[in-house]
Amino acid sequence: MIKSKFLKRNQAAEKPKYWLRLTRLCNNNCVFCLDKENRKGTIVKFSEIKAEVKKARKQGSDKLILSGGEPTLHPDYLEIIRFARQAGFREIQTVTNGRMFAYRNFLKKALENGLTETTFSFHGHTRELYEKQSGIKGSYEQAFTGLTNVLNSKGLIVNIDIVINKINYRYLDKVIKFFLRLGIREFDLLQVVPFGSAWDNRDKVFYNLEKALPFIKKAFSLQHQYPDIYLWTNRLPAQYLEGFEELIQHPVKLYDEIRGRKKILERFIDRKVLMRCYDKQCPYCYIENFCKDLIELRRAKRLAAREPAVCLRKGSVHPPKVFLAAKRIDLEKFLDFYIEHRYFLKSLRCRNCRDDGRCEGAPINLIRKKGFRILSPSRKK
Ligand code: SF4
Ligand code: SF4
Repeated sequence: MIKSKFLKRNQAAEKPKYWLRLTRLCNNNCVFCLDKENRKGTIVKFSEIKAEVKKARKQGSDKLILSGGEPTLHPDYLEIIRFARQAGFREIQTVTNGRMFAYRNFLKKALENGLTETTFSFHGHTRELYEKQSGIKGSYEQAFTGLTNVLNSKGLIVNIDIVINKINYRYLDKVIKFFLRLGIREFDLLQVVPFGSAWDNRDKVFYNLEKALPFIKKAFSLQHQYPDIYLWTNRLPAQYLEGFEELIQHPVKLYDEIRGRKKILERFIDRKVLMRCYDKQCPYCYIENFCKDLIELRRAKRLAAREPAVCLRKGSVHPPKVFLAAKRIDLEKFLDFYIEHRYFLKSLRCRNCRDDGRCEGAPINLIRKKGFRILSPSRKK
């Protein structure tokens, strides 16, 4: 059995990891690639990579994640692994489509140089399903050979990323079962996001989550059949995870989301230039409520905490905490406040509640701990 060392759910988010982009190119052309705007066909210079590796070590990271584009296409990929190992990284993970690992010698050298973990982006279990998403004929065979080689090498942790989208959601449990049979036990299920190719191909990839829910829950239920499986979700709206609350993504991951969009958010803070993705893309975006709050904070200069769910209120409600915008809004400080006081959830059942219209739900951390079952809708008149 092959699985990550991070067995305790949510601890992974706290581990000092450093993401390092090696390329802006890829040999696949995935229909939902969110990196399309950055795919300029270039690589990051080895000298710049070395400087970043040293910086990451100085900052205390002991796990390096090599990403791209497709990182294995960097001409110095093997040397980068060796350099990172010598710089002191204990764990070196690569996120990859895995096609380069079809070359056994390449894999052998990657292992010798210090690679410890591979995360394969593998969104389908059959050639047809895979290539419908990867956009490249012959890519399934090469990726599958790469995966088999890695599994046979026995020296690497192997896990799988699956982007859930309109093309594959009906087969999600079958896709996971296929990899379970190969001995893989760790899966990250990522919701498709409205950027890059995914936005260009929105009619092909976005789907109705409520209709897809029976299929997605069937996949989640695999954790009852396979007690040693590790499922994670990424950017899946939490209200669809009722009954599987342990799979709700840790709110700390929002820091990565915000850092990823820092430039456009800071341009809004400093110059009031509205995010270019604002409006049309927001309903599909995981940070929609955060962006709405940020816009409101900039307008009103203050934002109050949400009030506790009506069905959970006991006695009188205290005056809510308020976040006051300083001269310049500090994104991370605001995010601290947002997670504790504004990142609230409601159940899909709340639609039947008499108080739905005047209630804001409950804090995400409470729902993660106690489940949506603590919310009790009162019958509409
Ligand atoms: S929620 Fe924010 S980041 Fe997401 S699409 Fe809207 S403006 Fe862009
Ligand atoms: S059931 Fe939902 S809408 Fe009703 S009071 Fe509780 S949280 Fe609010």
